[in-house]
Amino acid sequence: MLTVEDLKDLKGKKVYVRVDFNVPQKNGVIRDDNRIQAALPTLKYLADHGARLVVMSHLGKIKWKEPDPAKIEEMKKANNLECAAKRLAELMPEHKVSFCPENRGAALKAAVDALQDGDILVAQNTRYQKGEEKNDPELAKEWASLVDIFVMDAFGSAHRAHASTVGVPSILKAEGKPVALGYLMLKEVKNLTRCVEVKDSDRPYVAILGGFKVSDKIKVIDSLLKKCDYVLIGGAMTYTFKKALGMDVGNSPVEADQLDYARHCIEEAHGRLLLPIDAVVTNVFELDDEHKTREIKTVSTIVEEGGKIPAGFEGVDIGPATRKMYAEKIAGAKMVFWNGPVGVFEQEDFQAGTKAICEAIRGLKGKAFTVCGGGDSASAVKQFGYKADFSHVSTGGGASLEMIENDGHLPGVDVLA
Ligand code: ADP
Ligand code: MG
Repeated sequence: MLTVEDLKDLKGKKVYVRVDFNVPQKNGVIRDDNRIQAALPTLKYLADHGARLVVMSHLGKIKWKEPDPAKIEEMKKANNLECAAKRLAELMPEHKVSFCPENRGAALKAAVDALQDGDILVAQNTRYQKGEEKNDPELAKEWASLVDIFVMDAFGSAHRAHASTVGVPSILKAEGKPVALGYLMLKEVKNLTRCVEVKDSDRPYVAILGGFKVSDKIKVIDSLLKKCDYVLIGGAMTYTFKKALGMDVGNSPVEADQLDYARHCIEEAHGRLLLPIDAVVTNVFELDDEHKTREIKTVSTIVEEGGKIPAGFEGVDIGPATRKMYAEKIAGAKMVFWNGPVGVFEQEDFQAGTKAICEAIRGLKGKAFTVCGGGDSASAVKQFGYKADFSHVSTGGGASLEMIENDGHLPGVDVLA
């Protein structure tokens, strides 16, 4: 597989760079530009060598099934990539960075043709095109026709076979043109491969799996149980496991259709799947459906010994005994993979569990290989100030999970081979 540094004679060449600028933003105000920062080494390398860059990324979601065209327009407006182009221009003052509000047709072609050596053109959100997520061949053909080379640096999108991630490189490759991995991709693939191809010296290998739903993470639970010595469960998915064991879980969320699967995991694990032994519980917990954020009003927070949740209450974090038990397991590890916060870390009262996991991993610094992969878990790690304590914090949530599930394979990487 080629990497950016294998690309020769870049001067004057047009390079399509697929980046992951899917940043958290509202009305064009970016809350965290980590993903833009992460793409800089590749963009700088290419631009400094005189390439002419056509940079594309998706941002947010456009629900094309929506029948009302006005609503589609609203979604587009909410996910305009111009904010990311502006931020990139600030971060790369030594190069000319411009934004093309179109990502197809004559306007885009003209903007690409006007590029000088070292210039960077960021095109509009790829998802403004209905064909992007369907890997529409006509769309991929048009994008591929604009350039001489393809560079993949969007780790967070590498698990999706879309026009911009798989369509374009397939076409260029068939035409005998170079396709390569960027620096961020290289780093991500290298670190996550280590979590997949486990060596004896990496044992004990401990995984911590939290977050919301068992059904979201079914495949990864199976894969982790095969690879790891211990899997520590936290988050809301705890209660599907507890219910499967016949325990009282109060109002905690349970996925009724996953109970058999949960029982199967517990049996298969032969004691290597650890469940919380106590919990922080609350009796008021509201989910704001429209905004997909959780608005929680704590009325009372109690700790229930033994993991039995009283009626009317639900578990929202791992309790102190579990924190201690998990910290001890982590302390003995040579390798750790963590996905999913173990509590509702967005709310101050329910952060202690997730912080305790961070703290335990900090204790392994220099002694073990530690990786955090997962959108929300990575933002918790960052928010609590533990990012530098990890060997690697992935920029891709879904992508890092799929890498583990699929034994190191991702469509956006395999296409470059
Ligand atoms: P990641 O993005 O790291 O993969 P997920 O998206 O699966 O993680 O889950 C993150 C969400 O899980 C967070 O918003 C957090 O509030 C929620 N969560 C964690 N524990 C609980 C719990 N006990 N009850 C309800 N929600 C929880
Ligand atoms: Mg998430």
